[in-house]
Parts: sequence; structure tokens; C-alpha cells
Amino acid sequence: MPVGTQATVKGLTQRDLSEDLGVRLLLANTYHLYLRPGHELIRKMGGLHRFMSWPHAILTDSGGYQVFSLSGLREIDEHGVLFRSHLDGELHTFTPQSTVDVQIAFGSDILMVLDECTAYPVSHEYARESMHRTVGWARQACARLRHLAKEISTRHALFPIVQGSMFRDLRRECAAALRDLDADGYAIGGLSVGEPRPLSMEMVEATEDLLPRARPRYAMGVGMPEELAEYVARGVDMMDCVLPSRNARNGCLFTSEGRLIIKHARYRDDERPIDERCQCYTCTRYSRAYLRHLFLSGEILYVVLATRHNVRRYLDIMSEIRQAILSGSFPEYLRCVRAVSEDAG
Ligand SMILES: [Zn+2]
Repeated sequence: MPVGTQATVKGLTQRDLSEDLGVRLLLANTYHLYLRPGHELIRKMGGLHRFMSWPHAILTDSGGYQVFSLSGLREIDEHGVLFRSHLDGELHTFTPQSTVDVQIAFGSDILMVLDECTAYPVSHEYARESMHRTVGWARQACARLRHLAKEISTRHALFPIVQGSMFRDLRRECAAALRDLDADGYAIGGLSVGEPRPLSMEMVEATEDLLPRARPRYAMGVGMPEELAEYVARGVDMMDCVLPSRNARNGCLFTSEGRLIIKHARYRDDERPIDERCQCYTCTRYSRAYLRHLFLSGEILYVVLATRHNVRRYLDIMSEIRQAILSGSFPEYLRCVRAVSEDAG
């Protein structure tokens, strides 16, 4: 899923995403859109799909991650979390119920339950207390949606989130408790918070056999291009990451042969596209030399072209993975990915 934090993927139009890149599911951030422009305004404008003119599915996170990473001065208890807006310092409360209400006002197709994303590292004791709170919040959120479903005609999926920091026993206890909710899908949260990558993989593996096989599993906020197949190998179906769009803006382009830092002098008169194997709009028309020039000049077109390529690269990887699974060659595909990333790194 490309990330559209503010109901926009920076640098791309909805037409680029839908028609050119074939995106069918976008992520938008509850915390940001709740604070600005506000869920009631979005409801009044006909919901998020109409407001941002997006014809396909939208997943919204619960806002939990941003409350814990962006906002100041907060209090947290079993009822929810009190936080200060990073925009104007005003106090707000998120509860498991209110975040469902906000995401229903958006008209999201997939809602996430409020969760506490702990910092890394954290003590086992705190992680345990926090995980129990997240499970309690998931129960309350599911009850809230069941209640609302009686009043609304649209259908919405709600995913609870497995937490438990980097402790295998807590992750398993959390997944087992969430499984009882019989949810539409399950997310694995609390990853990419500064832990070493083998540990993130271990935490995904920890609950692999516990989460229902027939429901989608969503690893939140991951990963690097070479890691996508690793997550899939551990049972993950869905991922979101700001890396393709954020790194594009910073001058880091992902190619089938590794990373390319566009500002390097060696690309000054390089007529080749970013990636000779890529069929995206950017690679079929523009040279590295031109993109480097746009980047160094701070031109808006650089962001547009670079983001288009990086998002396409991620979608191509996922498409290769799907093909490999369908043709029964995924183990071989995974071996190739590992060999290439060992060579590179
Ligand atoms: Zn390209």
C-alpha cells in the first residue's frame, strides 16, 4: 500500500496511482486527518473517497502510532489516550470507540483498532501491561463496530493489532487473545521502531502459526525492498511503507540492481533510465542525467518522476512475489532475493 498520510501520496495524482500504477488500496492516517481537516468535515464532504477523489479501497490506521510518536504530553489508561496536537498543542482524547467512529466518518474500507505502539527497547513488564491494554482496546473497538454496523448500510473491515514489543511470549499471548475476536484480518504492529531487522522477522515468525490462515495479515510500517519477500515468507499479505515515496524525495531510488543515489556526480551525463528493466513512465522517458539535474535544482518535477518510479518498483516487487507464489516458485524467488541482497550488502 502506498502511504497517503494527508489523503495524498506526495507527488502523485490519484490518476497516476489508479490508472498508471494500478494501485487498488491506499493507506491514510487517522491522526493527521482527524486533526486537520477533521473527520466531521470529511464526513460532510461525502467521506474520504469522495473528498480525495479516490475510486478504490482505503485503509486507515488508528492514529495510535502517531499519538505515541508525534504528539506531546499524554496520559494513557485502559480507557484511551490523552494527547496534545502537534499542530497547535490542543488536548484531544482517542478511545478505542472514538477511533472507530472517526474511521467510519472517513468511510474507510479497512479500519484499524487503537493500539499502543511501545518504544524500543522497553521492559518486559511494561510491554506486558501495554499489550494487555491493546487487547482490551481491541475488544472494545470490535464491540463498537458491531454496534455501529446495525445503523450503517456500508460494510467495513476492522483489524486488531498484535503488539508485545520484542518479546516472543507476549506476541504469542496477544495473537491468541486477538484470534478469539474472529476479526476480518490481523495486523502486526510495533515493528520498525529501531530494533535490529532479524528481531523484526523473529517477531513476525512468533505468531505465524497462531493467526488464522484464511484472514489477511498486515505487517505495519515495513520494509525495505529486499525485505518484502522475507515478510511474505513469514505469512504476511499486506504491508505499507513511506520509504518509496519519502526516499524518492530524498534522492534515493530503488532499482532491480539496488539503490541509486541520484545526486552522485557519476550520473551527470548518464543517458540511461533509473532502471533499465523498469517500464514506468519515468524510466521509459527520462535519463538519470535529467533527473539528477532536476533534483539538484530543487524542481517539483523531480519529486513527481522519482516517486512514480519508486512506488512502481515496490508494486513490481509485490507483483513478482504474487507470480512466484502462483507458479510455485516462491522458494526459488526468495533464494534469489537473498543472494542479491547479500552481494549488495
Ligand atoms: Zn521506473
